[in-house]
Parts: sequence; structure tokens; C-alpha cells
Amino acid sequence: MRTRLNIVGGNVSTTDNLSFQPKQIDAVGIRPGEGAGIRLSKAIIQRTTALRAYNSYAGGRDWMEKLSTAYVVALATRSADELLIRDIQSHIPEEPPIFCRKCREATIGVNVIRALLFPRLKELRKHANDLIHHLDDPKKQGVDKLYIQGVFEYCYHLFEENADALFGAIPTVVFEYTMCRQCREREAHGRRGNAT
Ligand SMILES: [Zn+2]
Repeated sequence: MRTRLNIVGGNVSTTDNLSFQPKQIDAVGIRPGEGAGIRLSKAIIQRTTALRAYNSYAGGRDWMEKLSTAYVVALATRSADELLIRDIQSHIPEEPPIFCRKCREATIGVNVIRALLFPRLKELRKHANDLIHHLDDPKKQGVDKLYIQGVFEYCYHLFEENADALFGAIPTVVFEYTMCRQCREREAHGRRGNAT
């Protein structure tokens, strides 16, 4: 994990966007299973990392510590999100099978699944992306323009509001077969060819 933080310049007094209290997350990562068994949340390691940082944020000693904590929340939540969506993707029955890689991406790609099943997660993910890209770019300065709280809303939304999804309760949706541009053009071309 990269932890390089490029925070140069930037007035420390302009870190108001770091002074908020994240909402409490009550959802648990382990649930009782069949009989004496237990069930683990999906992405349990990423979840644990994200929530440890999430919970320590309010007690951060200074803005640097708060910012690095927010960075960990962003990275770990994003990878838990990715794992959840990839897991859903691997369980979508492909009937008929999609042979073109690009059509497959357009039909049941990770971004399509996230947008369809978890539109709010997709929205909030942008805040995590913004923070990560910002801190990874040596040319960027100051963080006062970033909506840091959005990173915590993203984390809260995934682990608290979508707790059931992480235990496998996935809403049912129908994925419309979507052709990629090349296949669409090829098909249109074929139709024109047949007409003449
Ligand atoms: Zn295609």
C-alpha cells in the first residue's frame, strides 16, 4: 500500500473539511451461521482495515494524522467495494455466454454492476477516488478543496447501509445485453450488406 502523502503548502487553518465526526457504524463483520457455525462478511480484511481507520479518525492528533487515516479509509473501502462487485460479477449466469470481451464489459462490467445495484455507492466512490488521486499526485497541493467527509460517507454506506450485501444478500436485477461499439457497427454493416 502506498502511503506517500504529498501535502505541500496548504494553510493548516484551512482544514475545516477535516473537522467532522463520522457516524457510528454498528454493523458487524461476523454473523452466526448454521448451527454452531459463523459467517464472515465478504472482504473481511479490507473491512477490518477500513473500519479501524474509520473509528480512529475522530481521535486523530492533527490534520496530518487525520488525512492519512482518511486515505486508509478511502483505499480499504474502495478495495472492499471492488471485491464485492467482482464477487457478484462472478455469480451472474451468462445465458447466452458473451464471447466478446468488450460486450461483456458493457453488459456486466464492474462499473455497470455498481451503477445498477449500488448507484449511491458509485456516487460516493468518487470522493475516495478524488482523495487518492490527489494525494498520489506530487503536483497537487493542499486538500482544502476536497470533500473528505464523503470518503467516510462512502465507507458508512458500504459497511453499514449495505451490510447485508456483504453477507450475500444481493438485489436481483436483469442485465440487458449491451453490445460494444465495434460489434454494433459490425452488425449494422451486416444488415446493410444483406439488404442489398
Ligand atoms: Zn463486442
